[in-house]
Amino acid sequence: LPRTVLISGCSSGIGLELAVQLARDSRQRYQVVATMRDLGKKGTLEAAAGEALGQTLTVAQMDVRSDESMAQCLRCIQGGDVDVLVNNAGVGLVGPLEGLSLATMQRVFDTNFFGAVRLVKAVLPGMKRRRQGHIVVVSSVMGLQGVVFNDVYAASKFALEGFFESLAIQLLQFNIFISLVEPGPVGTAFEEKLLEQVSAAQFPGADPDTLHYFRDLYLPASRELFRSLGQSPQDVAQAIVKVISSARPPLRLQTNARYSALTALKAADPSGRLYVWSAHRLLFRWPGLLIRALRCLACGCFPSRVLPG
Ligand code: NAD
Repeated sequence: LPRTVLISGCSSGIGLELAVQLARDSRQRYQVVATMRDLGKKGTLEAAAGEALGQTLTVAQMDVRSDESMAQCLRCIQGGDVDVLVNNAGVGLVGPLEGLSLATMQRVFDTNFFGAVRLVKAVLPGMKRRRQGHIVVVSSVMGLQGVVFNDVYAASKFALEGFFESLAIQLLQFNIFISLVEPGPVGTAFEEKLLEQVSAAQFPGADPDTLHYFRDLYLPASRELFRSLGQSPQDVAQAIVKVISSARPPLRLQTNARYSALTALKAADPSGRLYVWSAHRLLFRWPGLLIRALRCLACGCFPSRVLPG
């Protein structure tokens, strides 16, 4: 029997690609329920799904911030059983902390963290009863290490990492697996939406120095990061398909090997100094070198040509 896979946030990006790749599985191992907040945006997914639509892929409405839309969506799943849950829906937030309202920060947590928690609470009783299941979480490399001016977004991904690592221990007892997938930068609408937010935002309350660092140092570096190290949503979806089809799925998977040189800076020094000081120096003292370092990462010659000694 095909496994029922429920995915959140499928109107674009990684969620859309994943839904299509699973639905088009040559061995037809999956029945995909691709959900999105706004069904008005289902056109792109339906076109990409082609013949799979109505066969191995159905589209359903679900806002991960609403218990009601979630309950309604789950009622529509045949048998009500979800074998694989993919928590993909997420939003970004960048900018100086002083210029962001608490309500804005809480919305990020409500989507990225509590959205996943809500869904897990809804599907877990069924998975436990059947003694099987797989919960995949689209986290981020920012769930592993903080990145300047991404304080709240990184915190929401750290929250996911702590929550699901804790849960993973209990759930092994029920034969349920958890996988945290950690992409680096991905070329989706995600970055465009962030840049739009940023160009419209005034960040009232942020001082001129901080605003200067954000706009003139961070933003160009971030653009370069996406340009040189960005992965395609197809690649990330492919990595997730592999995790879903694995008999012993990993708890963590970084999808971008070129980015791993940066996450290694944290792993190499548990005091945290190496990562924080390197990131600080590169951004604030030698921003030109940072751009070079990112290009070297992209071609694989980092860190030998960038960090002397
Ligand atoms: P995206 O913006 O194309 O996709 C995010 C999806 O989540 C969109 O379809 C959006 O409509 C949906 N969404 C937002 N709020 C929702 C809600 N309340 N209910 C239901 N759906 C909602 O961007 P993406 O890059 O495909 O992002 C997918 C996931 O990947 C996110 O969790 C994101 O944090 C993560 N991620 C993205 C990147 C990147 O650089 N793009 C890097 C690492 C991790």
